[in-house]
Amino acid sequence: MDCVFCKIVVGAIPSYKIYENDHTLAFLDINPVSPGHTLVISKKHYSNLEDIPEKELCEMIKTVKKVGKALKDGLGVEGYNILKNNDPVAGQIIPHNHFHVVPRKKDDNLSQWPQDKYKEGEADNISKKIIKNIN
Ligand code: AMP
Ligand code: ZN
Repeated sequence: MDCVFCKIVVGAIPSYKIYENDHTLAFLDINPVSPGHTLVISKKHYSNLEDIPEKELCEMIKTVKKVGKALKDGLGVEGYNILKNNDPVAGQIIPHNHFHVVPRKKDDNLSQWPQDKYKEGEADNISKKIIKNIN
């Protein structure tokens, strides 16, 4: 087993555990974007969203919801971002599915992503390409 998060699941690597049930585990990110930054993982190893069965994914998002509420109630944060880096090109370093739950406060200086505008006809073209591949 060469996966850091699988090692955390079995306790071979220590973590600050926040919550666990039969399917999922939540623990503090070792390098937090903000205090309380929590990772939610499935206990079984699946690398990305395309691999994970829907039942496991539902369990993950249910745990994200629990963690988010605990961050609000326990740390007094006003909101949080839920982030999933899916595949290396999107910044996924650990190839074991996880959601980041990042506490946010007003004026925390965490920058938002830059956004752009579509060129004439581009949104029409792109939306059609995606729609053709929705299963
Ligand atoms: P990602 O880039 O989405 O794959 O994020 C991986 C995250 O795992 C990073 O935010 C790391 O800080 C975090 N991380 C890596 N190793 C550990 C560890 N041993 N315990 C807790 N968090 C970790
Ligand atoms: Zn793993």
